[in-house]
Amino acid sequence: MIFIRNLNKIYNNTNVINNLDLQIEKGDFVFLHGKSGSGKSTLLKILTKEVRGWSGKITVDSQDLNKVATYNIRRKISVIYQSFELLQEKTVYENISLAGHVVGKTNKDIHNRTTLLIEKVGLKGKENLYPKNISGGEQQRVAVARALLNKPEIILADEPTGNLDTENAYHIIRLLKQLNEEGVTVLIVTHDLELVKSFPAKIIIMSEGKVKISENDHLLI
Ligand code: ADP
Ligand code: ADP
Repeated sequence: MIFIRNLNKIYNNTNVINNLDLQIEKGDFVFLHGKSGSGKSTLLKILTKEVRGWSGKITVDSQDLNKVATYNIRRKISVIYQSFELLQEKTVYENISLAGHVVGKTNKDIHNRTTLLIEKVGLKGKENLYPKNISGGEQQRVAVARALLNKPEIILADEPTGNLDTENAYHIIRLLKQLNEEGVTVLIVTHDLELVKSFPAKIIIMSEGKVKISENDHLLI
Protein backbone atom coordinates (compact mmCIF):
# COMPACT_ATOMS: atom_id res chain seq x y z
CA MET A 1 0.00 0.00 0.00
CA ILE A 2 2.82 2.41 0.92
CA PHE A 3 6.19 1.62 -0.59
CA ILE A 4 9.24 3.75 0.18
CA ARG A 5 12.70 3.23 -1.24
CA ASN A 6 15.85 5.21 -0.67
CA LEU A 7 14.02 8.23 0.75
CA ASN A 8 16.12 11.25 1.65
CA LYS A 9 15.10 14.62 3.06
CA ILE A 10 17.64 17.28 3.85
CA TYR A 11 17.15 20.26 6.18
CA ASN A 12 20.02 22.65 6.71
CA ASN A 13 22.58 20.27 5.17
CA THR A 14 21.45 17.43 7.44
CA ASN A 15 19.75 14.26 6.25
CA VAL A 16 16.74 14.10 8.58
CA ILE A 17 15.54 11.16 6.47
CA ASN A 18 18.48 9.06 5.46
CA ASN A 19 18.12 6.37 2.75
CA LEU A 20 14.94 5.14 4.37
CA ASP A 21 13.24 1.99 3.08
CA LEU A 22 9.81 1.08 4.35
CA GLN A 23 6.78 -0.86 3.29
CA ILE A 24 3.31 -0.69 4.82
CA GLU A 25 0.88 -3.37 3.69
CA LYS A 26 -2.85 -3.00 3.39
CA GLY A 27 -4.41 -3.89 6.74
CA ASP A 28 -1.23 -3.29 8.75
CA PHE A 29 -1.32 -1.93 12.29
CA VAL A 30 2.05 -0.28 12.77
CA PHE A 31 3.80 1.58 15.55
CA LEU A 32 6.53 3.93 14.41
CA HIS A 33 8.75 4.52 17.40
CA GLY A 34 11.86 6.64 17.76
CA LYS A 35 13.44 9.46 19.72
CA SER A 36 12.40 13.04 19.25
CA GLY A 37 14.13 14.38 16.16
CA SER A 38 14.51 10.98 14.47
CA GLY A 39 12.39 12.09 11.50
CA LYS A 40 9.01 10.52 12.29
CA SER A 41 6.89 13.65 11.76
CA THR A 42 8.83 14.54 8.65
CA LEU A 43 8.09 11.09 7.22
CA LEU A 44 4.35 11.48 7.92
CA LYS A 45 4.32 14.96 6.40
CA ILE A 46 6.06 13.68 3.28
CA LEU A 47 3.32 11.06 2.89
CA THR A 48 0.57 13.69 3.18
CA LYS A 49 2.48 16.06 0.87
CA GLU A 50 2.84 18.72 3.56
CA VAL A 51 6.59 18.39 3.15
CA ARG A 52 8.13 18.33 -0.30
CA GLY A 53 11.59 18.46 -1.75
CA TRP A 54 12.66 14.90 -0.97
CA SER A 55 14.39 12.34 -3.15
CA GLY A 56 13.76 8.64 -3.58
CA LYS A 57 10.71 6.65 -4.54
CA ILE A 58 7.34 6.58 -2.83
CA THR A 59 4.25 4.86 -4.15
CA VAL A 60 0.81 4.77 -2.54
CA ASP A 61 -1.43 2.05 -3.97
CA SER A 62 1.15 1.62 -6.73
CA GLN A 63 0.86 5.28 -7.76
CA ASP A 64 3.88 7.56 -7.67
CA LEU A 65 3.26 9.99 -4.77
CA ASN A 66 4.55 12.87 -6.89
CA LYS A 67 1.86 12.20 -9.48
CA VAL A 68 -1.09 11.88 -7.09
CA ALA A 69 -3.03 15.08 -6.45
CA THR A 70 -2.80 16.33 -2.85
CA TYR A 71 -6.60 16.27 -2.67
CA ASN A 72 -6.64 12.56 -3.51
CA ILE A 73 -3.88 11.76 -1.06
CA ARG A 74 -5.71 13.54 1.77
CA ARG A 75 -8.86 11.52 1.04
CA LYS A 76 -6.90 8.30 1.10
CA ILE A 77 -4.78 9.21 4.12
CA SER A 78 -6.35 10.83 7.21
CA VAL A 79 -4.25 12.29 10.01
CA ILE A 80 -4.76 12.50 13.76
CA TYR A 81 -2.60 14.84 15.83
CA GLN A 82 -1.33 14.99 19.39
CA SER A 83 -3.11 18.28 20.01
CA PHE A 84 -6.45 17.06 18.51
CA GLU A 85 -6.69 20.17 16.27
CA LEU A 86 -10.44 20.59 16.73
CA LEU A 87 -12.28 23.77 15.81
CA GLN A 88 -13.07 25.35 19.17
CA GLU A 89 -16.13 27.28 17.98
CA LYS A 90 -17.74 24.17 16.48
CA THR A 91 -19.58 21.42 18.35
CA VAL A 92 -18.57 17.77 18.47
CA TYR A 93 -21.10 17.04 15.72
CA GLU A 94 -19.90 19.91 13.54
CA ASN A 95 -16.23 19.04 13.96
CA ILE A 96 -16.93 15.53 12.70
CA SER A 97 -19.38 16.39 9.90
CA LEU A 98 -17.48 19.32 8.40
CA ALA A 99 -15.13 17.14 6.35
CA GLY A 100 -18.17 15.71 4.51
CA HIS A 101 -19.26 19.11 3.26
CA VAL A 102 -15.77 19.77 1.94
CA VAL A 103 -15.98 16.73 -0.35
CA GLY A 104 -19.54 17.49 -1.46
CA LYS A 105 -21.54 14.64 0.09
CA THR A 106 -25.29 15.06 0.50
CA ASN A 107 -26.55 16.33 3.88
CA LYS A 108 -28.31 13.04 4.49
CA ASP A 109 -25.17 10.98 3.87
CA ILE A 110 -23.16 13.28 6.09
CA HIS A 111 -25.72 13.08 8.87
CA ASN A 112 -25.92 9.28 8.73
CA ARG A 113 -22.18 8.84 8.72
CA THR A 114 -21.62 11.41 11.50
CA THR A 115 -24.25 9.76 13.71
CA LEU A 116 -22.75 6.32 13.11
CA LEU A 117 -19.24 7.51 13.95
CA ILE A 118 -20.36 9.34 17.09
CA GLU A 119 -21.75 6.04 18.36
CA LYS A 120 -18.71 4.11 17.26
CA VAL A 121 -16.28 6.29 19.21
CA GLY A 122 -18.58 6.43 22.24
CA LEU A 123 -19.68 10.07 22.17
CA LYS A 124 -23.44 9.63 21.99
CA GLY A 125 -25.12 12.39 23.99
CA LYS A 126 -22.12 14.76 23.57
CA GLU A 127 -22.96 15.86 20.00
CA ASN A 128 -23.75 19.45 20.92
CA LEU A 129 -20.90 20.10 23.33
CA TYR A 130 -17.91 22.24 22.43
CA PRO A 131 -14.35 20.89 22.64
CA LYS A 132 -13.58 22.92 25.77
CA ASN A 133 -16.44 21.18 27.59
CA ILE A 134 -15.27 17.60 27.00
CA SER A 135 -12.17 15.77 28.25
CA GLY A 136 -8.93 15.33 26.31
CA GLY A 137 -9.76 11.68 25.70
CA GLU A 138 -13.13 12.66 24.29
CA GLN A 139 -11.56 15.35 22.13
CA GLN A 140 -9.23 12.79 20.62
CA ARG A 141 -12.21 10.50 19.94
CA VAL A 142 -13.81 13.41 18.05
CA ALA A 143 -10.60 13.66 16.03
CA VAL A 144 -10.71 9.92 15.29
CA ALA A 145 -14.34 10.16 14.13
CA ARG A 146 -13.52 13.21 12.01
CA ALA A 147 -10.61 11.35 10.43
CA LEU A 148 -12.96 8.49 9.50
CA LEU A 149 -15.75 10.55 7.98
CA ASN A 150 -14.68 10.17 4.37
CA LYS A 151 -13.67 6.51 4.75
CA PRO A 152 -9.90 6.81 4.39
CA GLU A 153 -7.83 3.74 3.63
CA ILE A 154 -5.04 4.81 5.94
CA ILE A 155 -4.93 6.64 9.27
CA LEU A 156 -1.66 8.27 10.30
CA ALA A 157 -1.65 9.21 13.96
CA ASP A 158 1.17 11.51 15.12
CA GLU A 159 1.61 10.98 18.89
CA PRO A 160 -2.17 10.67 19.30
CA THR A 161 -1.83 9.85 22.99
CA GLY A 162 0.79 12.47 23.84
CA ASN A 163 -1.68 14.70 25.68
CA LEU A 164 -3.69 11.92 27.34
CA ASP A 165 -3.44 10.05 30.64
CA THR A 166 -2.72 6.31 30.50
CA GLU A 167 -6.33 5.18 30.58
CA ASN A 168 -7.41 7.47 27.75
CA ALA A 169 -4.26 6.64 25.80
CA TYR A 170 -5.13 2.93 25.86
CA HIS A 171 -8.72 3.73 24.95
CA ILE A 172 -7.61 5.60 21.82
CA ILE A 173 -5.19 2.86 20.74
CA ARG A 174 -7.88 0.21 21.31
CA LEU A 175 -10.22 2.27 19.15
CA LEU A 176 -7.60 2.52 16.39
CA LYS A 177 -7.00 -1.25 16.68
CA GLN A 178 -10.73 -1.88 16.30
CA LEU A 179 -10.81 0.28 13.17
CA ASN A 180 -7.83 -1.66 11.88
CA GLU A 181 -9.71 -4.91 12.38
CA GLU A 182 -12.49 -3.39 10.28
CA GLY A 183 -10.02 -2.83 7.46
CA VAL A 184 -8.31 0.54 7.96
CA THR A 185 -4.53 0.55 7.72
CA VAL A 186 -3.17 2.34 10.80
CA LEU A 187 0.25 3.88 11.44
CA ILE A 188 0.82 5.33 14.90
CA VAL A 189 3.82 7.46 15.75
CA THR A 190 4.64 7.24 19.43
CA HIS A 191 7.59 7.49 21.77
CA ASP A 192 5.63 5.62 24.47
CA LEU A 193 7.28 2.19 24.65
CA GLU A 194 4.87 0.84 27.26
CA LEU A 195 2.03 1.49 24.86
CA VAL A 196 3.93 -0.16 22.00
CA LYS A 197 4.55 -3.27 24.11
CA SER A 198 0.88 -3.55 25.04
CA PHE A 199 -0.54 -4.14 21.59
CA PRO A 200 0.37 -6.75 18.99
CA ALA A 201 1.59 -4.74 16.05
CA LYS A 202 4.24 -4.34 13.45
CA ILE A 203 6.89 -2.18 15.07
CA ILE A 204 9.17 0.12 13.17
CA ILE A 205 11.93 1.88 15.00
CA MET A 206 13.46 4.99 13.52
CA SER A 207 16.82 6.37 14.43
CA GLU A 208 18.66 9.19 12.67
CA GLY A 209 16.30 9.16 9.73
CA LYS A 210 16.51 5.42 9.11
CA VAL A 211 14.47 2.38 9.98
CA LYS A 212 16.54 0.42 12.47
CA ILE A 213 14.27 -2.46 13.34
CA SER A 214 11.12 -3.68 11.74
CA GLU A 215 9.54 -6.66 13.40
CA ASN A 216 6.20 -8.35 13.49
CA ASP A 217 4.43 -9.10 16.74
CA HIS A 218 7.39 -8.84 19.07
CA LEU A 219 10.00 -6.41 20.23
CA LEU A 220 13.74 -6.91 20.12
CA ILE A 221 14.62 -3.97 22.30
P1 ADP B 1 10.37 13.52 15.13
O1 ADP B 1 8.98 13.60 14.60
O2 ADP B 1 10.92 12.12 15.11
O3 ADP B 1 10.54 14.19 16.44
P2 ADP B 1 10.94 15.44 13.05
O4 ADP B 1 10.63 14.80 11.77
O5 ADP B 1 9.97 16.40 13.64
O6 ADP B 1 11.33 14.30 14.11
O7 ADP B 1 12.33 16.18 12.94
C1 ADP B 1 13.50 15.55 12.42
C2 ADP B 1 14.62 16.58 12.35
O8 ADP B 1 14.33 17.51 11.32
C3 ADP B 1 14.76 17.40 13.62
O9 ADP B 1 16.15 17.63 13.81
C4 ADP B 1 14.04 18.70 13.30
O10 ADP B 1 14.54 19.78 14.02
C5 ADP B 1 14.29 18.84 11.83
N1 ADP B 1 13.22 19.57 11.13
C6 ADP B 1 11.92 19.21 11.08
N2 ADP B 1 11.21 20.07 10.34
C7 ADP B 1 12.09 21.00 9.92
C8 ADP B 1 11.98 22.17 9.11
N3 ADP B 1 10.82 22.55 8.58
N4 ADP B 1 13.09 22.89 8.88
C9 ADP B 1 14.28 22.49 9.39
N5 ADP B 1 14.46 21.40 10.15
C10 ADP B 1 13.38 20.67 10.41
P1 ADP C 1 5.89 18.42 14.66
O1 ADP C 1 6.48 17.74 15.86
O2 ADP C 1 4.48 18.07 14.38
O3 ADP C 1 6.81 18.36 13.44
P2 ADP C 1 6.98 20.90 15.55
O4 ADP C 1 6.39 21.71 16.66
O5 ADP C 1 8.23 20.12 15.74
O6 ADP C 1 5.81 19.97 15.03
O7 ADP C 1 7.21 21.86 14.30
C1 ADP C 1 6.33 22.88 13.98
C2 ADP C 1 6.73 23.41 12.63
O8 ADP C 1 8.08 23.85 12.63
C3 ADP C 1 6.62 22.35 11.55
O9 ADP C 1 6.13 22.94 10.36
C4 ADP C 1 8.03 21.85 11.37
O10 ADP C 1 8.25 21.38 10.05
C5 ADP C 1 8.84 23.11 11.67
N1 ADP C 1 10.14 22.79 12.29
C6 ADP C 1 10.40 21.80 13.18
N2 ADP C 1 11.68 21.78 13.51
C7 ADP C 1 12.27 22.80 12.83
C8 ADP C 1 13.59 23.32 12.75
N3 ADP C 1 14.62 22.77 13.41
N4 ADP C 1 13.81 24.40 11.95
C9 ADP C 1 12.80 24.93 11.27
N5 ADP C 1 11.53 24.51 11.29
C10 ADP C 1 11.27 23.45 12.07
